[in-house]
Amino acid sequence: MKKIITSHKGRKCKQFRCKQILSIYNHEAYCHLHSSHISQDQRSAAAIKRD
Ligand SMILES: [Zn+2]
Repeated sequence: MKKIITSHKGRKCKQFRCKQILSIYNHEAYCHLHSSHISQDQRSAAAIKRD
């Protein structure tokens, strides 16, 4: 038997207003749609440092 690591059932994408339920096989905090978006947002957020 193969041991498959799964995440919690019924997790939602952490993107604001996104109601996408994440697959138990998706260990990201965001859905596939937003996982690429977020890395871009974080990059721009890091560039714009606000105090
Ligand atoms: Zn999402």
